[in-house]
Amino acid sequence: MKDHIIIAIDGPAGSGKSTIARNIAQIMNLLYIDTGAMYRAITYCVLLQKIDVHNKKKVNDLLLNIQLILKKNEQNSIDIYLNNHRLTGELRGHEVEKNVSLISSYKKVREYLVQKQRTLSQDYDVILDGRDIGTVVFPNTKYKFYLDASAEERARRRFHDKKAEKGLSIGEIKDEIIRRDEFDKNREISPLKKAEDAVYLDTTQMNIEEVSQFILEKIRKLS
Ligand code: C5P
Repeated sequence: MKDHIIIAIDGPAGSGKSTIARNIAQIMNLLYIDTGAMYRAITYCVLLQKIDVHNKKKVNDLLLNIQLILKKNEQNSIDIYLNNHRLTGELRGHEVEKNVSLISSYKKVREYLVQKQRTLSQDYDVILDGRDIGTVVFPNTKYKFYLDASAEERARRRFHDKKAEKGLSIGEIKDEIIRRDEFDKNREISPLKKAEDAVYLDTTQMNIEEVSQFILEKIRKLS
C-alpha cells in the first residue's frame, strides 16, 4: 500500500501559510486542510452560544454537544459544517479573531480537532497549515516547513487579504497578530514552534511564486 503524502506548513499569523498551501495543493493535486479554520469554528460556536471563553469546563462540555463536520469539497479543500450550517465568513470576524488563541489553548479542544485532522488525512495526499502540524499532529512526516515573516509584512498581507475582516488599520492588525503569536508561542500545550527537522523560510522579501517554488523544490529533493 502506498503511503499518503503529508505536507506540514506551520508558522505565525499572516506568514502566508494558507496562500502557499493552497497553491501547492493545486499544483500537486493534494487536499488542502486549513486547521486554523477549525479552531475558529469552535471559537465561533462558543461565542454564538454565549459561553464565557474563560470557562474551560463549559467549553469542554460544548464539544460533547456539537456536530462539527469536515467535508472535502470540489476545490480540494475542506468545508466546515457546524450543526448542519456551513461556516464561511463567520470565521473571520473580529470577535473570533480576538478569542481564538485562548480557545485553542484548551487541551480538550486540541484533542478534539487533532483527532479530526488525522482522520481526514487518512484517505488523501494532504497539505495542512497550522501551528502544531509538524510538531504534534504529524511529527513523523518528512515534509515540514516553517514559514515566517516580519510582523510589519505579515500585517500588510493581512490588510490586503480579501477574506480578512475590514475596518482595521495596518497598525491595529499588527498589534493583533503580535498578541496572538505571543499567546500561541507561550501556551502550555502544543505551542507554536518550528519542529527541529522543519525547513525554516523567512518569506518577508519573497512573493507567492518564489515561496511555492522553494517548497516544491525541497519536496522534490526529499522524495
Ligand atoms: O491560521 P489561523 O490564523 O486561522 O489560526 C487561528 C488561530 O488558531 C491561531 O492563532 C492559533 O491560536 C489557533 N491554531 C492552533 N493550531 C493550529 C491552527 C491554528 O492553535 N494548528
